[in-house]
Amino acid sequence: MIDTHAHYCDERFEADRDGLLSGLHENENVYAIIEAGCDIPGSVRVCELAEKHPFVYAAAGIQPQEVAGFRESDLDELCKLLSRPKVVAVGEIGLDYHYTTEDKELQKRVFRAQLEIAQQLKMPVVIHERDSIADCLECVFDYDVCGTFHAFSGSRETAKKLLDRGWYISFGGTVTFKNARVPVENAAYVPDDRILTETDCPYLTPHPFRGKRNDSGYMRFTIQKLAEIRGVEYEYIEHITERNAKELFGIA
Ligand SMILES: [Zn+2]
Repeated sequence: MIDTHAHYCDERFEADRDGLLSGLHENENVYAIIEAGCDIPGSVRVCELAEKHPFVYAAAGIQPQEVAGFRESDLDELCKLLSRPKVVAVGEIGLDYHYTTEDKELQKRVFRAQLEIAQQLKMPVVIHERDSIADCLECVFDYDVCGTFHAFSGSRETAKKLLDRGWYISFGGTVTFKNARVPVENAAYVPDDRILTETDCPYLTPHPFRGKRNDSGYMRFTIQKLAEIRGVEYEYIEHITERNAKELFGIA
């Protein structure tokens, strides 16, 4: 399996990060992990982690909740990071109006600047979207870019718009939660060639371990749930999600 969205640089992995990662790859069938950056210093750490572990890849970007201290020079730093060999995507980037809409315009400016960079470099993007779907689609569809919406929580109508334009949709632990109605509907709807799996670890641990620290090993509960929803074998979901991730992110 491939975890297309993780945060192993989080301090909750401070004590056991490297050993945990090696164990996941060697013993738990985790073929590859894409570690997502949230700001420039964070993206530097993400690149370093990816350079240390052959099966870890990096996404570098400025997340919408981290735009407060944004300077134009951050974009130059980002471009430098994106040229490092293990970096496979621009992310996570997007819009998040959940806590505040006061910085909407700044969020959009930083998001658009990064979409522009992804377009120029022909790199896929990893999108973080929360309570901002109309603005988010307006931004992404202005650029010739493709990628994935991570922990997708949008409607089926939104899913269709994205799928029609070649986007991928990624599912994590939320699809296993007891109150998960919309994610389950979407998980049944996304075609075989556009579905991805992720953890967003250390957050969003699948049921029945919700609340515990998440890691890529728990992704098997998400895959199991996807298999049940779609009426196919576990191994089939494992196979197609791995194949799709390799294709989108250019992983061998
Ligand atoms: Zn994330």
